[in-house]
Amino acid sequence: MILTPSRTGALKRRDAINFFNRNPSTPPAWTKWIWRSIQVQRHSFLTWKFFLNKAPTLSRLLRKGLVQDQTCSLCTVGEETSDHLTLQCPYSRYIFHSLLKDMLIKGPVPKRLSDLPTWLDTKVTHPVKKTIATSMLTTFFWFIWMERNNRIFRGKSLHKRELMGRIKAKITIRLQFSVLKAAISPELIKVAENYGTSISDIPAISKPVQWIPSDSNWLKVNSDGSLSEDRGGYGAIMRDEKGNFIIGAAGQSNPKSINLLEFQGILLGLELGLQIGASRI
Ligand SMILES: [Zn+2]
Repeated sequence: MILTPSRTGALKRRDAINFFNRNPSTPPAWTKWIWRSIQVQRHSFLTWKFFLNKAPTLSRLLRKGLVQDQTCSLCTVGEETSDHLTLQCPYSRYIFHSLLKDMLIKGPVPKRLSDLPTWLDTKVTHPVKKTIATSMLTTFFWFIWMERNNRIFRGKSLHKRELMGRIKAKITIRLQFSVLKAAISPELIKVAENYGTSISDIPAISKPVQWIPSDSNWLKVNSDGSLSEDRGGYGAIMRDEKGNFIIGAAGQSNPKSINLLEFQGILLGLELGLQIGASRI
């Protein structure tokens, strides 16, 4: 590959992008998530080449007459295409499934790279989690490619569990230094724990609050709603003017919107009041 230098003589990443992407007017869906600042640039670059089917896989080199064998070095059975190496090879799939499990992403996984961005968009809606998930993906692709190179060029190989451990360690470091500091939810804390990052690594966001008693002969209801990606919950508690517990309850609902869950909490509190015949709430 020969890249012509820019006017200043320096080679920029943009030059390489333009070289590969001959038709940049319609950027594909995946471009928006592989170039995020959290990600290691060489991981993003490799991912980008995979998506364009420009990675020098054995299948691609065979078509150019540069090699004679396209057998995948990871499973020694399949043909080494971009789709096979990343999503179809049993070796890679074992690692990928484990990473997704830790990321709390469930269900069948696409077998073609072209289906991956839409799949990810439907599986992960929380913006911070999406950043973590895409970082995980690009890191995964990079390590798979390095393992493939080590096998072909150095005759060295790692067991799939060993490589998985190294990928997880890399993701953990990136988690610790990046996005979890920006937004915290119970689900993201669980993801962090799955990757061996304790909650104490994350700076706490605290807001002091105080319960203010109601006027005498009134009962006070406090309610709350809470939302995660696949679950919604709400609750209400009723206390008298001295703070004594009178009645309380909690429920689960479809995770449609946080406002709806907050209102369900208030409604529950009022229904509890009706049940015990309270007239002033
Ligand atoms: Zn394979």
